[in-house]
Amino acid sequence: MGLDLSERRIAARPPMAGHKPRFQSDRIESLTLRHVVVPMDKPISDAKVLTGRQSPLAALDLLMVEIASAEGHTGLGFSYTLRAGGAGMYALGCELAPFVIGQDPNDISRIWERLAWQGISLGRGGMSYQAICAFDTALWDMKARRAGLPLAKLFGAHRDSVRIYNSSGQYLQASIDEMKAAAEASIAKGIGGIKMKVGQPDGQEDLKRIDAMRAHLPEHIALMIDANQQWDRAYALQFGRVVDGMGLAFIEEPLDAWDFDGHAELARNLATPVATGEMLTSQQEHFDLIGKGGCDVSQVDVCRIGGFTPMLKVMTMAEAARIELAPHMVMELHVHAAAAFGSEGWVEHFEWWEPLFDERLEISGGKMHVPDRPGLGFTLSEQARGWTQAEQSFSAAQG
Ligand SMILES: [Mg+2]
Repeated sequence: MGLDLSERRIAARPPMAGHKPRFQSDRIESLTLRHVVVPMDKPISDAKVLTGRQSPLAALDLLMVEIASAEGHTGLGFSYTLRAGGAGMYALGCELAPFVIGQDPNDISRIWERLAWQGISLGRGGMSYQAICAFDTALWDMKARRAGLPLAKLFGAHRDSVRIYNSSGQYLQASIDEMKAAAEASIAKGIGGIKMKVGQPDGQEDLKRIDAMRAHLPEHIALMIDANQQWDRAYALQFGRVVDGMGLAFIEEPLDAWDFDGHAELARNLATPVATGEMLTSQQEHFDLIGKGGCDVSQVDVCRIGGFTPMLKVMTMAEAARIELAPHMVMELHVHAAAAFGSEGWVEHFEWWEPLFDERLEISGGKMHVPDRPGLGFTLSEQARGWTQAEQSFSAAQG
């Protein structure tokens, strides 16, 4: 006898209603978007360039977003891309901007979802999320400015400063003497860790350079190495075993960034912490990486995954997994997140973004200090306006 489904009932769901806020206190009135191109003094090369996969990095492309609300509050946010995609990210931002107008800037998660669904044909990640980051960071900036708090304090800070490291002058083409001189200059500035690039065609050369740098640096200065996805699993394990016991703070991207199983196997087999995650472009990818045990140190990049809204979720998962946080580049954004993380990890120092703003971050004693200004703590400089290649404004009046 067949099953009679005629009497079965499915509870009716209320129809999807438009958002009718009960507590709306403000609405977004206008946005200005800019495509800003920052030239590099000297093109930069890592292992991806040495192996012919990429061209040297000659410029940074940014999407900068300024938001103003009906109540007179403002926010400044940005996202970046390297090599390809700058003009595309700006064009996508201009398509998304009208969907932010009229929204309540308090509802950051809802706006985030709205933009993600608008760009869903591009996928859950990639350029879609990178463009959203510029809006998301501007909204968090506005929220913290309105509260009169540095963003780290709005998040719920654990500390007012975070350890800072850099890779200035530590690239593959630099001689050992040049690397030593660059490290000394960084330490004199207050940097607390030095990360050198590895992945020379001859692995013995890498070992010689690591030995030389570890012997040269004062003991309290951390040393990290970054292979930029250069190696295969067998070589990475061999190399990792040779440097295990040298007290390296971490070994970064030994394998292809999406080889989560390979990174997990290395992390299980090495005493040196394995760091990765900078290339990933969504919270889901980070959940998968962390869930597999693929890193001891998460190098999540707030711009690549779509802003602070998803980053806070990745940070929660990282804390639950008892791993460290050392976000990738963009210290102007990451100092706030790293200060709000359960354990003290690292912020990565890059001077590249500095000329875009009137203010500077303070560094001393191996730490970067959370700015004591409200929000992210930055205003757009004249130089940023000078490097602007395209600009468009959107307002409620335009409809
Ligand atoms: Mg890296």
